[in-house]
Amino acid sequence: MTISKLLRSFTRFGRSVNFRYCKEASKTLVTSASTRGSPAAAVVGDAIKEFQYCARNMSTESKETPQTSQPTQTEERGKCIFCKICDGVQPTNIVYQDEEFVVFPDMRPAAPHHYLILTRHHYVDAKSLKKEHIPMVEKMVLIGKEVLTAQGGSPETARMGFHWPPFHSISHLHLHVIAPENEMGFIARGAFMTGSFWFVSPETVIQRLQGKL
Ligand SMILES: [Zn+2]
Ligand SMILES: [Zn+2]
Repeated sequence: MTISKLLRSFTRFGRSVNFRYCKEASKTLVTSASTRGSPAAAVVGDAIKEFQYCARNMSTESKETPQTSQPTQTEERGKCIFCKICDGVQPTNIVYQDEEFVVFPDMRPAAPHHYLILTRHHYVDAKSLKKEHIPMVEKMVLIGKEVLTAQGGSPETARMGFHWPPFHSISHLHLHVIAPENEMGFIARGAFMTGSFWFVSPETVIQRLQGKL
């Protein structure tokens, strides 16, 4: 399959999901393919798989285009499925909660253990965080390890990370904790590939907030 053919099918697919999202993603892909010197076809192919994976997880996501003015926290909460879970409006099997965080299993687990660590506060994503959020990210990691251990998993075998925009299916900050890593399927390994341009480790997020990246 040629690159242009791949890009066309990618755009077609993206249009059915969210055109703006796809356009941004295409740009990222092309840049990434050229800067990394990796075969563009492979990168685009991976991205299509990632989009298909996201689309399956998108049933609850709002497909509205983002507003130009900054919505208030209350406006966001009304529309966001993760805020509804945090507020107890949307029933979910919560395995841990405190005044700052809520943890529940991923609806489509990528391995026997797969949890989402959410902040109660509606942050859009890891990129929107500031330096003062470093302790919060560290706490999310700690809670992820504690929950995993309490659920019978082992933190040493876990993969943890945040989606990196524009590649997030739900725009509410959440840390994925997946274990054991070696039981993840092929597609999940791609979708949650730490160090990729769509999924980053907590360490990378912290380094970025410290201004080291
Ligand atoms: Zn939210
Ligand atoms: Zn996610």
